[in-house]
Amino acid sequence: MKTVVVGTVAFDAIETPFGKTDRVVGGSATYISLAASYFSKDIGIVSVVGDDFPQEMIAIFHLRGIDTAGMEVKAGQKSFFWSGKYHMDMNSRDTLVTDLNVLADFNPVLPANYRNAEFLMLGNIDPNLQIQVIEQMNKRPKLIVMDTMNFWMDIARKPLDRAISMVDVLTINDEEARQLSGEYSVVKAARAILKRGPKYLIIKKGEHGALIFHGDHVFFAPALPLEEVFDPTGAGDTFAGGFLGHLARSGDTSFSSMKRGIIFGSGMASFCVEKFGPERLFDLTQAQIDDRVHAFIDLVQVDIELVG
Ligand code: AMP
Repeated sequence: MKTVVVGTVAFDAIETPFGKTDRVVGGSATYISLAASYFSKDIGIVSVVGDDFPQEMIAIFHLRGIDTAGMEVKAGQKSFFWSGKYHMDMNSRDTLVTDLNVLADFNPVLPANYRNAEFLMLGNIDPNLQIQVIEQMNKRPKLIVMDTMNFWMDIARKPLDRAISMVDVLTINDEEARQLSGEYSVVKAARAILKRGPKYLIIKKGEHGALIFHGDHVFFAPALPLEEVFDPTGAGDTFAGGFLGHLARSGDTSFSSMKRGIIFGSGMASFCVEKFGPERLFDLTQAQIDDRVHAFIDLVQVDIELVG
């Protein structure tokens, strides 16, 4: 397996100003692996679900070439469940319910062919599990990318700090960067977080794009202004999946390659928000993805001459 993705595979109940779903498939590993599958193959998921999880979704993973041998199915138990409600601006949300269910006593065991992966994506999940996965690798992967959220900052700060110290790239949103660092300015927050281990920090700002920090360098990519945003759930994970997929495909983990990765990630995230749940990521075409990436290039390109 070239790329291993650990994270949640879940059910979500989502409410936005434009609609509501009681139960749709979600989870960090779902969005990440689907998005990455458009760039690179040999992706395996490490997660756990209950026997309430639909076979149809597992079939979709397989259709996209995603391996699920590392996804445990626990008989008689319920899948992770998350429920959230978006505010009118669609950029902020309240978590209403987080039911860990099967996740509460999950002990990931990586299949033997996952343990030499070059790219490891630690999607949002209990940081203790993120560490357990790193420790099961035969050798350190070429690149470890990690995502997390305020939920784990609130209840698992110690293991979270340890996990952060073990990775190359950390992705979080601006609020979480402030919470993690205690700094209001994102620039100061980034400087403080980069001292804790990761060489690269990506700060996601929802509809306002994303920043990547590395040493004294910073690069910014806007989000594509879309006419309709239906459901932002999973946009951050989809972004991470596009970013990682590009790096795995190119094999190039330099800062320039990461800048391109941010554009691919933003392009994929712009699809994700067009429908409830991950549905938009089931059957995109290469032409659709190329069009989005070109729209990004048009959005940011400008000819300018300095005067004087
Ligand atoms: P995003 O919108 O990119 O932050 O990701 C939303 C996804 O994260 C949803 O599909 C949820 O199932 C999943 N999620 C929500 N809370 C958690 C949590 N505490 N740990 C892991 N995954 C979560």
